[in-house]
Amino acid sequence: MNPRSVVVVGASRRTGEDAFNILENLLNYGYTGRVYAVNPRAMEICGRPSFPTALDLPEVPDLAIITVPREIMPEVIRACCARGIRTFILVTQGLAEADERGAAMQAEFMAELRRHGARALGPNTLGTVNSLDGFSSSFMPVARREPIPSGVICQTGLFLGTNLGPTTGIGKGIDVGNQADLGVPDALRHLGEDPRVEVVAIHLEGLRPGEGRLFVETAREVTAKKPVLIYKTARSAVGSAAAGSHSGSLAGSDRVYEAAFEEAGVIRLEDVDDMDDSVKAFVHLPPIRGRRVAVVSASGGGGIMAADACEDYGLELAAFSPETMNGLRELYPEWMEPGNPLDVWPASIGKAYPAVFQACFELVVNDPGVDGIVCIGGAFSVGGFDVGEFVAASAELRRDKPVVWWLQGREAAPMATRIEASRRVAVYPSPERAVRALARLAAYHVDIRARRPDRPRRPAGCPKAGSDATRGPVAAGSGPTGSFAAGLVAGAGSPAPLPAQAAVLPPAETFALLETYGLPVARWAVAAGPEEAVRAAERVGLPVALKAVGPGIVHKSELGLVRLSLGSTADVAEAARDLLRKATGAATGGGTPGRPGPSGPEPPGVPALAGLLVQEFLPGGHEVIVGAKQDPHFGPTVVFGLGGIYAEVLADVAAGLAPLSPAGARRLLERTRAYPILRGARGQEAADLDALVEAVVRLSWLAAEHPELSEIDLNPVKVFGGKLGGKVSGTGKGCRVVDARFVRA
Ligand code: ADP
Ligand code: MG
Repeated sequence: MNPRSVVVVGASRRTGEDAFNILENLLNYGYTGRVYAVNPRAMEICGRPSFPTALDLPEVPDLAIITVPREIMPEVIRACCARGIRTFILVTQGLAEADERGAAMQAEFMAELRRHGARALGPNTLGTVNSLDGFSSSFMPVARREPIPSGVICQTGLFLGTNLGPTTGIGKGIDVGNQADLGVPDALRHLGEDPRVEVVAIHLEGLRPGEGRLFVETAREVTAKKPVLIYKTARSAVGSAAAGSHSGSLAGSDRVYEAAFEEAGVIRLEDVDDMDDSVKAFVHLPPIRGRRVAVVSASGGGGIMAADACEDYGLELAAFSPETMNGLRELYPEWMEPGNPLDVWPASIGKAYPAVFQACFELVVNDPGVDGIVCIGGAFSVGGFDVGEFVAASAELRRDKPVVWWLQGREAAPMATRIEASRRVAVYPSPERAVRALARLAAYHVDIRARRPDRPRRPAGCPKAGSDATRGPVAAGSGPTGSFAAGLVAGAGSPAPLPAQAAVLPPAETFALLETYGLPVARWAVAAGPEEAVRAAERVGLPVALKAVGPGIVHKSELGLVRLSLGSTADVAEAARDLLRKATGAATGGGTPGRPGPSGPEPPGVPALAGLLVQEFLPGGHEVIVGAKQDPHFGPTVVFGLGGIYAEVLADVAAGLAPLSPAGARRLLERTRAYPILRGARGQEAADLDALVEAVVRLSWLAAEHPELSEIDLNPVKVFGGKLGGKVSGTGKGCRVVDARFVRA
């Protein structure tokens, strides 16, 4: 980022605007360190000495910028390493991100770099831009502006080449390229450690597999000191496929990234504008103390737009104090009661609009119940009154409260550029963007800053760390029921073919493992035939549910293999015979003729029955899905969503990194749209959220300690009534797992 000497290997002799000459750009940028070129066909470039190879250099430069054709990369890097160079920016494209040959070349020179303990940024990178110290490796000519205290990490040179937006610029920028060596966590740590960098913005397509936890740990440390904003792209199927070849990284599931950002206190941005807007807010504005916002608008309509945006972005409209209200009433005609949003226009009828706007603004900004202000006005300059000057002055009135402006009209952009040079005001081109920027301040200063570190702690009753139960893999066939243990088959008959080694765990094993981790499971027993089922039902307690289960049976109810609310032993025996007939009939090739099951004619191809599951019948409650997966980037993750037939259509699922703390589990629930339903929407009974949170925490520990389980699916967990927002444990009616499926990879 700040070398004392640099060699550009592969420096071009061509100069000028369209030459994209790194060495020339570096000098134009104002770099004052020593500069060398390596180019066998030149004696000097831009007045700097050029050498045939790196071996000929008169000193060991702090940094080598490599910009040679990919074919000679291994050879060039060998020479640099031999000369003693240990830090590299690899600009060259066409390596691992391109094709197999490129990947092979990359592997070769990476091995050489590692042998020498050298570190590299790239390949396929614009490198770094450091306006705080005066260095740029960019092949795009980057204008050096007055440095601002921001850091940018990106997976495209676009952000560095364009200096990120018209007003903000960049303090330090790092393009990680295809991340052969240094990656996003390294860049983040660097920017976190530089006290001159006050906000970090990241453009991310994807982390490298296995790097997720390092990112979370690093980001957590940095967010304790300064805001970290992220614009995560490659969300769409096509986008993530393109990212695969673009940055050479695998884009993981977007939901899991969401969980990671949440966990680390990283603020996720919506789009490129958001990145520019939010950086500007953090650099230009003071911290916000709360979420209570006042809207002061030249028009009622604009005020309503801002009010809508406040709701969208989780800001509240402040209730003005009696003093503020009294002051405002004096300004307003008697036919209009002022309020928030404050429409200034009616107050200025027959008076000087600027003076009235100013009076309104002063009253509101000094209201102790107002944390931040959104102002809306036209950008004009008439009769000696300049709105721009007023905006600049408004920021000085209370330096402890952020004020954002939507200036409207043709003059807005040039006016904004002029007044934002002071770096004390933030002007936006729409009310929505102005409000959003304010909301980003609140996300950091109110939420993330206030968060107490809550490391997940092993809940009581879970197996001790390192005990047999926490050490995978779960022994196959250890369940109490021989038929299931023997029936472990490699995914036979399941709709989505499982990996060759994959096996569905038998229910007895599944439920036993859940119970080991203290998860509440509906009382259960397994049976081979009708008589055993009856005895099991008596043990479990009537009424019961009866299910035909087997390793290949995935959706039991769709196959008519679930019977509920069996109230007598006779019902149980009859249902058991029916289920056995159905499954075995189907197994021998096509159902029992003339005997439709309870859910209509038997569907073809019911897989062979392996046994019967007898369960206590638990009517009512909310049905939710709690699951877990091993993510290639982040390891064990937990997912949560509402159960039922619309679950898939609504795709209302949130993820979290396992293991979770209770607070983390609650945030996970809150991220779903289903959460208000569980809280008891429209007179429905609220669910026992304390019990659900605990179940999610316990499952997260199970998932974290059993990486051999590639899929965990509790569907449904039935959640019964609870005290609304009840802090006291044990007041609710709890929850029960009634169906579970574990797949071992
Ligand atoms: P599958 O998902 O394989 O079709 P489940 O065991 O989940 O089978 O049962 C299907 C549905 O039946 C559940 O979503 C739930 O509504 C209901 N159900 C299952 N077991 C019970 C039970 N023990 N008590 C009450 N309802 C149950
Ligand atoms: Mg189910």
